[in-house]
Amino acid sequence: MKNIELKLVFSEYELSELSDDDKNLYARAMDAAKAAYAPYSGFSVGAACLLDNGEIFTANNQENAAYPSGLCAERTLLFFVGANRPDQTIVKLMVVIKSKLKDAKKVYSPCGACRQVMAEYQNRQSHPIQLIFESGENKVLVCNKVDDLLPYIFRF
Ligand SMILES: [Zn+2]
Repeated sequence: MKNIELKLVFSEYELSELSDDDKNLYARAMDAAKAAYAPYSGFSVGAACLLDNGEIFTANNQENAAYPSGLCAERTLLFFVGANRPDQTIVKLMVVIKSKLKDAKKVYSPCGACRQVMAEYQNRQSHPIQLIFESGENKVLVCNKVDDLLPYIFRF
């Protein structure tokens, strides 16, 4: 028997340290969060992705009284992009939260189901997707590939 240690790499940035392009992506994700439909959780989530052709798409969470029928912002966005820009590469994906319930000391990372969908798109395009999500007040965590959030990605 031997122990296997995995190295996961994240970088934490103050929002003010982000590039202008990433600040723009953050603002687009925040705008998207404003239109979320989140009457049950109270967490309005916005997602924005940058494609390799420069296009930016956004989406938000869409909840439902029958909870599993709703969908997270990340998957709402990825499925839209997959349906409408299947030949483009997703370069980065920003996820933000707008909520009175938001804890400024907490990391809000994507759920397991969204991680698996991100992994599928990353695998499909054979190019890593950089992920950026909130890690406290005015801070974000950045990882350069989905593998850092989902080690040993399930693949066929
Ligand atoms: Zn999710």
